[in-house]
Formats: sequence, structure tokens, C-alpha cells
Amino acid sequence: MSQFWSEGVTELHPYVPGEQPQGERLLKLNTNESPYGPSPAIAAALHNVNVADLRLYPDPASRKLSAALAEYHSVPVDSVFVGNGSDEVLGFVFRAFFKGKGPLCFPDISYSFYPVWAQLFEIETHTLPVTKDYRIELSAIPKELKIVIFPNPNAPTAIALGLGELEAFVKARPDTLVVVDEAYVDYGAESAVTLLGTYTNVLVVRTMSKSRGLAGLRVGYALGAPDLIEGLVRVKDSFNSYPLDALAQLAALVSIEDESYFQATLSKVVASRARLTRGLESLGFEVLPSTANFVLARNPAKSGGEWQASLRSQGIIVRHFNKPRLEDWIRITVGTDAEVDRLLDALASCS
Ligand SMILES: *Cc1c(COP(=O)(O)O)cnc(C)c1O
Repeated sequence: MSQFWSEGVTELHPYVPGEQPQGERLLKLNTNESPYGPSPAIAAALHNVNVADLRLYPDPASRKLSAALAEYHSVPVDSVFVGNGSDEVLGFVFRAFFKGKGPLCFPDISYSFYPVWAQLFEIETHTLPVTKDYRIELSAIPKELKIVIFPNPNAPTAIALGLGELEAFVKARPDTLVVVDEAYVDYGAESAVTLLGTYTNVLVVRTMSKSRGLAGLRVGYALGAPDLIEGLVRVKDSFNSYPLDALAQLAALVSIEDESYFQATLSKVVASRARLTRGLESLGFEVLPSTANFVLARNPAKSGGEWQASLRSQGIIVRHFNKPRLEDWIRITVGTDAEVDRLLDALASCS
């Protein structure tokens, strides 16, 4: 604490990201990164970069990348906003659409960054309890709440909400803005992007960090009606004109162009997820039905914190949330088959 801090900084409760160990050789299954990494075409593209060109500022609007994303998702280019990771895009969303419009509704079990931005921008919140089987029940959202955000599939439950249910909600409540954080949608859930042509009260947020193996690059984006995108651009240009550096714009573009590598890695993760789920169940774990690249699992033989510590002592890190309704659970990122087997062996040896 310092006498020079502005008002409110002492009271902030910052987000605590999953551990990124430096130097230690650990099997990292705690932050949902891809075990395969990005398209190999990116290495070739970066190799050909003329480093002298870095003297120039990058395109502030990431126009080439935005155009490629528009084509990829079959939306107009003025429906695309690109930012420095989806966390930044989400921060802009909170500032552009939620500040002064609360209470903001999100599930009680959800991405733990939402309450942090809500506090930063002084937005009142309303938590929607997920059901006993950990599902988001949109119909239970009180009518007077006009702003809603949730991940689909939800994190850390990994459970997806069907498109039919989502469409029924946005259709019935045209004056409610629904922001769908689709960080994990590529692993099998139905995307809300198909709703964008019909409804202007939906905004979809995406990231290249998970399914595209580019967490280190920091690229995220939003898709939505042009007037929503304009709101995000206004906030961005009041904060940082150049959120994406030139190398990130290039690498992200190359990733979008390499669809076959992308699909191949997704299939491998989906197959390993089935292997992980079967293995966990045979060890007596309950596993929530996952449409993501992670699973949430529990086994009453130990608490979530105990399972996490046992694995850590065997060189494997998983995520545990010391929060109501989550104490018993551990969240495990889907690795390669070999990593899945190593995890299952470690669990077998400590159970
Ligand atoms: C990982 C994650 C993000 C953040 O992704 P970045 O693009 O790396 O900032 C956002 N939302 C959810 C639900 C996530 O799990």
C-alpha cells in the first residue's frame, strides 16, 4: 500500500491467474492451454518478418485480421472487434456496456474475472445460482436484469448451454444484452455466432488462447452488431490505440488461415477428453459432462485441495477453486493421451 494510490485501489480484489511455473519441469494441466501449440505455419511467417518494420506502429484496427475473422465467421467486417486477449476485450465490454447499467447477472460458478471487472468499474452484480447439476438456467434470470454474461461452455464446469435455450432467451428479452464468452466453444458446443444476423442483443467473445494454442500471443475478439462494436472501439481508442502488436496480428492471421491444423488438434483434444473422462470414472471420480478442453471432477476420497496437493507432489498441476460449491472439485486440462495417462497413473497411486 502507498499513500500515492488512488481511491479504491486498496479495496480491489484482483483476479488471480493459474500458476505459470518458471523453470520447474511440471505437467501443466491448470490453465487450459493447448498441448499442441499453434499452427506450424506461424513459425515460417514470423521467420520472414522484416524486423526493421517494427519501427512502425501496427495497424490500430487490425484490419487484415478483422477481415479474415469476418470471413471465417461469415459476419460483416464491422461486426468484428479485436483486442489483446479476450480478457482485454471483456474489460472493454464491462466499460462499454455494463458500467452504470447494473446489476450485472452472471452464474455463481463461472469465470472468476467477472466480479473483478465489476468491482473495477463499480458495477453492481447479481449472481444466478447454477442448478444442482451445475447447469445455467437462463429462464431463472429475473426480468428486471438487463445485462447478462456467462461463458459457453461454462468455466469451470465445462457444461454447454444449447443454442435453442439461448435463442429463446435473447428473443424473449430484446432489451437485455447477453454477452457469451465462447473461450471453449470450439471443442463441441454450439456457437451463438449464428444468432448475430437475427438479434442485435447478443455479443460473442472469443479467444485464440485455448483452441488455437496461442495463449502467449494475446489475441481475443468480439463479434456482434456494428453499434456494439463501435462502443468497444470508442473504449479501446480512449485507452490504448494499439492493443495488438504487429507480430500478434500476423500470427493470428496465419492461424485463421490454417484450418486443417486447427481441426486436427481439436479432434485430438476431444478424443483425449473421452479417454480422461473414462479413466477418471474408473478411478471413482464423478466428472461433469464436458464440451471444453478441461473437465471438472471430484472424488469423495479427498477434498479438491487434497487431490491438487497430491498431484503437485508428483509434478502435476491442476486447478482448484477454494470457493463455495467448488471445494470438492478439481479442474483438469485435457492434455495429450500420454499426459492423460500420466495424470491417471498419478491419481491411482495416491487414491
Ligand atoms: C481463458 C479464458 C478467457 C481469457 O482468455 P484470454 O484471451 O487468454 O485473455 C476468458 N474467458 C474464459 C471463460 C476463459 O477461460
